[in-house]
Amino acid sequence: MAFDLILKGGRIIDPSQSLDRISDIGFAAGKVARIGADLAGDAGTDVRDVSGHIVSPGLIDLHTHVYWGGTSLGIDAEEFCRTSGVTTCIDTGSAGPGNFAGFRKHVIDTSAVRILAYLHVSFAGIYAFSKTVMVGESEELRLMAPAEAVQVAEANRDVIIGIKVRVGRNAGGTSGAAPLDIALQAANEAGLPVMCHIDFPPPSYEEVLQRLRPGDVLTHAFRPFPNAPVDHQGKVKEAVRAARGRGVLFDIGHGKGSFAFKTARGMLANGFYPDTISSDVHALCINGPAFDQVTTLSKFLCLGMPLNDVIAATTVNAAMALKRPELGSLKPGSIGDATILSVRQGEFDYVDVVGEHMVGDKRIVSEGVVIAGRWWHPRASKFSKT
Ligand SMILES: [Zn+2]
Repeated sequence: MAFDLILKGGRIIDPSQSLDRISDIGFAAGKVARIGADLAGDAGTDVRDVSGHIVSPGLIDLHTHVYWGGTSLGIDAEEFCRTSGVTTCIDTGSAGPGNFAGFRKHVIDTSAVRILAYLHVSFAGIYAFSKTVMVGESEELRLMAPAEAVQVAEANRDVIIGIKVRVGRNAGGTSGAAPLDIALQAANEAGLPVMCHIDFPPPSYEEVLQRLRPGDVLTHAFRPFPNAPVDHQGKVKEAVRAARGRGVLFDIGHGKGSFAFKTARGMLANGFYPDTISSDVHALCINGPAFDQVTTLSKFLCLGMPLNDVIAATTVNAAMALKRPELGSLKPGSIGDATILSVRQGEFDYVDVVGEHMVGDKRIVSEGVVIAGRWWHPRASKFSKT
């Protein structure tokens, strides 16, 4: 077989096939071609020695904001992905049906990194999110545009994978769960899952969960009090367990205000891992406290979540939430995206959204990225071609 790229001697961790072993992996025609010992290339093959490092499926960040230039909260997807090991960014509701065309033409279609999107049910997405101007797009119900959202979702099925809505006092004022009910109507009509953001009540965590359907995603799931998933004694709320039992998915969406170590410790102590770990990176949290995806993953590793579960939460589990099983896997035939990681030992300072600091003994670092079967990373010299 003629490979375009062979990564030699890495520790391949692929939870989609319960794989954790040292091996070579070869890519051809944009896809994963083979995993095996001593893969050999020909004159045209890019061969790189990644021994001593982890090779995982390309990381998926299920919650990002990358409509750079079109929305005030957007960050540059390519720059972010190069440094944080992410090969697929999911933009969650930066754009609504009123401005999705620009997002598609100017960002999604021109980016080397994969971008998929939850389309906001609010007409212009998250349009006023900055340090100085902050207006919740779910506050004014006349902005809710379910019919337009269905139309735009149907015209962009290849990149729109769900409907986004933000509920809570910050995003929706006193509108409670009404924006979620409207988003669910659009999602039912389009046959897509919903990703729902939660912040301060109203509505309550329970009111949100009772509405979500199997396959829908609650993001900011490990937020601090109020609207935390654990009670004051650190017990997982009954409604949370019931929702997981029905197939509702729990996503982290760290961001600026949505992840607390205290909540996470309570959840993990109860054996309740998040389904997906995501950064919710945007203009107001990329310089902390979220920073990026590998930092968010590192926090969970330091809180005691096993490495393979952490990787599952940003690969196969995210792909399942997207209903895109061809992503998040290194099974031969899958999309040829991979991330090269290392886990450094030392003393590392981490901070959450309420300002609690935690010294962790591990840090996950992105060492390189493969997109569509080709090496894609500025630090290429470290793994120079052999
Ligand atoms: Zn967000």
